[in-house]
Amino acid sequence: MNYKGHLTVGFICFCSLIISLFLSPLHQTVYFKDMPLWFIVCLFGSLAPDLDHRHSKIHEWSYIGSIFCGCAIYFFTREVYQAMIITMLLLLIVFLLSRLKHRGITHHALGFIIFTILVYMAFHLMDFTSPFIITMFGAVGYLSHFAFDYISSIMKSSRK
Ligand SMILES: [Zn+2]
Repeated sequence: MNYKGHLTVGFICFCSLIISLFLSPLHQTVYFKDMPLWFIVCLFGSLAPDLDHRHSKIHEWSYIGSIFCGCAIYFFTREVYQAMIITMLLLLIVFLLSRLKHRGITHHALGFIIFTILVYMAFHLMDFTSPFIITMFGAVGYLSHFAFDYISSIMKSSRK
């Protein structure tokens, strides 16, 4: 629920992954122009598990984000019905996720696997050059959420 803490840890993970990519043999094949997208996907991943909480920032932002996604799809494809259907689907998913038990499925391995597959499929279907790298940033962001929740729960229990 502490979105600033999650964003900070997500940002640290993003920087670590960028440095690792630069130092790895992969750096010649990776398309670094996609970096702003990696940044957004990584930070989204770091907040995404809290979509199951009605009062979380990511939940509030996701309604506007879904509409923004629909507008972007219309802008690129000029397919008004496709853009409307995807927007409706995203809004429905955001709504349904907020009805789940907080720290339930989205905070478990299954939620992580579903998130990773969906991110990969979305960027693969949109024909991005390196959907695997984009997904890696999303996955690292998502895992950073678990790490931060775990550390803050330990700190809370040690204060008692
Ligand atoms: Zn959480």
